Amino acid sequence: MALIVQKFGGTSVADVERIQAVALRVKAELDNGNKVAVVVSAMAGETNKLVGFVEQTAKLYDTAEYDVVVSSGEQVTAGLLALALQSIGVSARSWLGWQLPIKTSSAHGKARIEGINADDILASINAGNVAVVPGFQGISPKNRVTTLGRGGSDTSAVALAAALGAERCDIYTDVDGVYTTDPRIVAKAKKLDKITYEEMLEMASVGAKVLQTRSVEVAMKHGVRVQVRSSFSNEPGTLVVNEDEIVEQELISGIAYSRDEAKITLVGVLDQPGIAAKIFGSLADANINVDMIVQNVSADANHSATDLTFTVTKADLERAVETVKADAKDLGYKELQSDPNVVKVSVIGVGMRSHAGIAQRMFQSLADKGINIQVISTSEIKVSVLIAEEYAELALRSLHTTYGLDGDE
Ligand code: ASP
Ligand code: MG
Repeated sequence: MALIVQKFGGTSVADVERIQAVALRVKAELDNGNKVAVVVSAMAGETNKLVGFVEQTAKLYDTAEYDVVVSSGEQVTAGLLALALQSIGVSARSWLGWQLPIKTSSAHGKARIEGINADDILASINAGNVAVVPGFQGISPKNRVTTLGRGGSDTSAVALAAALGAERCDIYTDVDGVYTTDPRIVAKAKKLDKITYEEMLEMASVGAKVLQTRSVEVAMKHGVRVQVRSSFSNEPGTLVVNEDEIVEQELISGIAYSRDEAKITLVGVLDQPGIAAKIFGSLADANINVDMIVQNVSADANHSATDLTFTVTKADLERAVETVKADAKDLGYKELQSDPNVVKVSVIGVGMRSHAGIAQRMFQSLADKGINIQVISTSEIKVSVLIAEEYAELALRSLHTTYGLDGDE
């Protein structure tokens, strides 16, 4: 008898009918002989609505009260699912974050889970009851309700699976798994049977928004096997697991892209110690995350000036430009160029660690299509390039073919 955590996202619990369908899925898992804990999101659109109420009520709001309001969507679905289970003869009860408790930091609106007391819930599950837990919420050391950041129910589910020592955490969502790339753009994209935690982290952080990034970190840390699957079909989904569970590892597992990038170039910035520290120090102080960075060698004869390019999120572009301009006197640049019309494309695969030439194939593939690379960055298992936004689709298709990922259309 295995213990499975099932997590259902907003579209899977969007109305009472769907909640009733979820109850049948839970029952099917019980009929397989398993024990079940369920984590639910709020009904689709509900959290946005609650955030809207907060913003209408107070412009500069108290984040502790924000959490009281926005955590309520999950409380509703947890109670409704427990009722739906009871009405098909399944013994079930809800467990709110504070009742376990799910202990978190005090960072309201983006709290981190610090520990889960699973004793009572486990005793109840072992006594034959289904436990229904609202995702997204916890309780701070000061006994205040907290939330984990948007998309945080995934993290609730994985953390609960770790605390319960569950066999698997099934994340039911509106896609049927993790794909080699965005199937809306590349028709030949294939569903992956398995992907490693590290690859999934890279996929999640470069824009494949299937799982909250934090949930993958928690899964990797605790070795929780996660399955991403559709609540609208019975097909198996994609397993996110340790590398040693994957027998035939592809060189490249996926190609991700992010349109959420914008580029800033400082032309003729002083080439002196302390300049980069100054620029990125001011940006950090302004809470602006910088992603890719390249600095050229000085082109002029006396090596006094160079060009520096970096990227920020599109939403931060204006503030980043203002922040750099405020330091203009110290930086001595000749010109500041900014460009929001860029996209970051990344090829991802743990196979890169042991194979040479992956990056070269990427650059060649883009060159063959006449696509200019503006910035490059790499990690151990990822190569990312920044290109003009208009080429995003062409680049994805061409790279997908280059790395042999095309399936049947
Ligand atoms: N309901 C929350 C949100 O919309 C948490 C979640 O669904 O994961 O962000
Ligand atoms: Mg989600």
